[in-house]
Amino acid sequence: MGKRRIVVTGAAGFLASHLCDVLLSEGHDVHGIDNLATGKMGNLAHLASEPRFSFAEQDICQSFDPGPFDYIFNMASPASPADYMRLGIETLQVGSTGTLNTLELAKKYKAGYLHASTSECYGDPLVHPQVETYWGNVNPIGPRSVYDEAKRFSESAVAAYERYHGVNTHLVRIFNTYGPRLQANDGRVISNFMMQALRGDPLTIYADGSQTRSFCYVSDLSDEHLPTNIGNPVEWTILECAKEVLAITGSKSEISFQPLPQDDPKQRRPDITKARTLLGWEPKVMLHEGLGLSLPYFKSCVEAEKSAASV
Ligand code: UDP
Repeated sequence: MGKRRIVVTGAAGFLASHLCDVLLSEGHDVHGIDNLATGKMGNLAHLASEPRFSFAEQDICQSFDPGPFDYIFNMASPASPADYMRLGIETLQVGSTGTLNTLELAKKYKAGYLHASTSECYGDPLVHPQVETYWGNVNPIGPRSVYDEAKRFSESAVAAYERYHGVNTHLVRIFNTYGPRLQANDGRVISNFMMQALRGDPLTIYADGSQTRSFCYVSDLSDEHLPTNIGNPVEWTILECAKEVLAITGSKSEISFQPLPQDDPKQRRPDITKARTLLGWEPKVMLHEGLGLSLPYFKSCVEAEKSAASV
């Protein structure tokens, strides 16, 4: 597409900050919005002197209007289990009021709309691997429901704006993604294991580590636009993942088995047939390589921790 004005909500977050980089590299003007609830301005620091990038500190749950734009990526939401459980009500608000506000703007400016949805919409899935036609298995009142149900409401809202108002919408269900700028202390498995391994602390495996996830490196994700499962279809048990982190970091950390959090999905793997056939999209970076690419970033986080502690 030619040069566009593109709005990105949640721009200071892990995924959206990488998305801003990709959109700018494609020649677009990018307006980022974030209320910095979990996003960090440091993720956008390298764009400070980029004339095609602007930023507003803004909560999308309040009414706002960034002026005309051609496309909006709605990426705003706390996303790690620790963050969305700490910010439960805010997570419900951004996935409902926030999504409706952004959809209204897309309608007003006749703009394209992409909503960053999640594999959590499938809950603790009974269909494996997960296909887009599966409706999921979500506990509507459990501790994860503030995120899962907000994201499911958002999907409903996006589908409704397409149905009732003809807004050109896209839904992407993103599976576990990692890489530089993932918050070092966000409680997620890759960040926990990398930081623990580099500190020499025990790796905290919840339950026996037989639950599975499929890990997608961030560069494989950044520029996908169409509605579909996006993720890496190679499935790892959490125990295997811990061993891979120990191998990459060369750490002598031990493994410490901890209780499993409530409603933690037992298995997760995307069926990406649709992405493959429709978009010719396929992830390229496998876990071993992606962890290696992430290593300098996590090392710098541990160094930053050490120097903060010595002040
Ligand atoms: N996990 C773990 N130890 C940790 C963090 C996570 O064993 O220190 C497990 C967790 O129980 C889950 C998986 O790793 O089964 C992925 O957890 P994460 O919080 O990264 O994201 P989720 O996929 O559950 O949203």
